[in-house]
Amino acid sequence: MIFLKSDEEIELLRISNQIVAKTLAEMAKIIAPGVTTEQLNKVADEFIRDNGAIPGFLGYSGFPKSICTSVNDQVVHGIPSKNVILKDGDIISVDCGAYINGFHGDSAYTFCVGDVKPEILNLLRITKESLYKGIEQAQEGRRLGDLGYAIQSYCEEHGYSVVREMIGHGVGRKLHEAPEVPNYGRKGNGIMLKSGMTIAIEPMINLGVRNLVLEKDGWTTRTVDRKPSAHFEHSVAIRRGKADILSSFEYIEQILGNKAI
Ligand code: MG
Ligand code: MG
Repeated sequence: MIFLKSDEEIELLRISNQIVAKTLAEMAKIIAPGVTTEQLNKVADEFIRDNGAIPGFLGYSGFPKSICTSVNDQVVHGIPSKNVILKDGDIISVDCGAYINGFHGDSAYTFCVGDVKPEILNLLRITKESLYKGIEQAQEGRRLGDLGYAIQSYCEEHGYSVVREMIGHGVGRKLHEAPEVPNYGRKGNGIMLKSGMTIAIEPMINLGVRNLVLEKDGWTTRTVDRKPSAHFEHSVAIRRGKADILSSFEYIEQILGNKAI
């Protein structure tokens, strides 16, 4: 069942997502060689709580931390750890959730650690652009297949592959609601989007093959060929004519300045 949100509920979702956006900007301030993903988790957890919210991921299906930190060939759901020390040339996807007023925010951004190879920077750029290609389709009257097609065709044209096992989702009173939002699809297929639907669109795009493996911790997914993977996510409300983006990368990119991809 897909829950349509009222204008008031969408404003509450915006509050949750803006806390997530500002938390990700705190990550942008501190991500650097030598920092551990546990340190990122601590800063994020405190920042979310200081803003009156609760980390949406902590305890979700038993997830043990407040953010997901996925480095290089890890795709999503990496668990922060004091043993994961960022180094020059890494990329790290930070996926963050905040729960307040009965609604979940959900957004992710892939950051560079120091100097990243041009080949990998391009993967990040195309993945982020593909998110906005998907968002262009996130409007009343379009179908979910149009959205998936827009992301898939854009990434595949650039020689990248689209993860199939992990997908976007509805977001609201629950972190994961209907509908499922794949990053692949066929034009004209899938359910028709209606004003008031709220979805998290989150392309996970690989430099090499699309296939994943689950690591021994039972959470972390990584690419089978160990090539890097990028991940960007916005929560949006479907509207007539144009999606309303509830999360934001503006705070992050203000911090990153001319280093933003
Ligand atoms: Mg997320
Ligand atoms: Mg999500």
